[in-house]
Amino acid sequence: MRPFVHNALPARVIFGSGTSKTAVAEELKRLGCKRALIVTAPRKDEAEVILNALPKELVAGMYANATMHTPEDVTADALKYAEEVSADCAIAVGGGSAVGLAKALALQSNGRIKQIAVPTTYAGSEATSILGQSKDGVKTTQRTLTVLPQTIVYDVDLTLELPAQMTITSGMNAIAHAVEALYATECSPLIEVMALQGIESLAKALPILSQDLKNKEARSDALYGAWTCGTCLGAVNMSLHHKLCHTLGGSFDLPHAEVHTVILPHATAYNTPYAKEAMAKIAKIFGGNVTAAQGLYDLAKNNGAPYSLKELGMKEEDLEKAADIAAKSPYPNPAPLEREKLLQLLRNAYEGVRPE
Ligand code: NAD
Repeated sequence: MRPFVHNALPARVIFGSGTSKTAVAEELKRLGCKRALIVTAPRKDEAEVILNALPKELVAGMYANATMHTPEDVTADALKYAEEVSADCAIAVGGGSAVGLAKALALQSNGRIKQIAVPTTYAGSEATSILGQSKDGVKTTQRTLTVLPQTIVYDVDLTLELPAQMTITSGMNAIAHAVEALYATECSPLIEVMALQGIESLAKALPILSQDLKNKEARSDALYGAWTCGTCLGAVNMSLHHKLCHTLGGSFDLPHAEVHTVILPHATAYNTPYAKEAMAKIAKIFGGNVTAAQGLYDLAKNNGAPYSLKELGMKEEDLEKAADIAAKSPYPNPAPLEREKLLQLLRNAYEGVRPE
């Protein structure tokens, strides 16, 4: 066994079907909270399930304007409302946008507002102490335990309506956390197990879900994978893939899960010669007769996800600028970060070619 350091975040996770109807009220009690503010994106269907299941006296209100990349003005507006209704807990119901807003409320209140996360996508933010926030189009990220939700309640039933494309792209977003964890310098044997289990669970579930969105067993496998992959993201530092997606999402306003889906095979191919052991383990999950990069590309493309930056609306003339940003600030990565090679990676992603 090679030497390692393992970083674990405190986590209380309740996983199952129908869990949100009972567990959320119990968790509020456990946390000693009496005034819950439900935060969600403008789509309120899943949040209303929680609202209807909670005893009326525990609900302080609902704020349904959670927005991608946690804009600071939205947080300020939500905080004002939280203070008006004397909220002591934010229940995030939705994807990374809802979870991000609850994290921001916890941060702004110095941890006074507790959090229960009820995730309905596979983004994995609920398992991390990372908060990304945006102001005037610039996104900054910080890590602090203050933003880590006290409890995660996974309810498979709340994921059954996740649309087809979001199901696949959000699943690929989760897989990206695990792929980068496998070659991170801080990867411990336990994180490796979680990363491989997460990739395997999602690689099995996504093709089934692309044919049958309401398949509960596959939904359950995908949600479990989201948790293990999110835990990997929370435990180690991310490399080239996440940095590129951060740049493309933040500076070129491209959608989060879709960008992860398009970039992942190409970032994987870029790192393959320098992370052979990790890549061999990923390739094995895909049957062993494709590379890790090809397995990831096929998983997305064959199940109806977008596979080129062109499709996502990226402008070809912006590729050079994106390569400049990616090469400029140094960060740990298995393969050296060379501008011309990064530009080629981005060109391949722009055209959506299958990695060799
Ligand atoms: P999202 O939360 O914006 O959700 C996308 C859309 O899906 C929304 O319109 C939402 O209403 C809808 N939706 C969510 N669940 C649904 C369901 N079950 N059925 C039907 N529709 C549903 O997108 P996301 O990809 O989950 O999250 C992206 C955000 O999360 C970004 O801001 C990203 O930066 C952040 N993120 C943060 C971390 C972290 O650790 N801090 C990790 C991953 C993602």
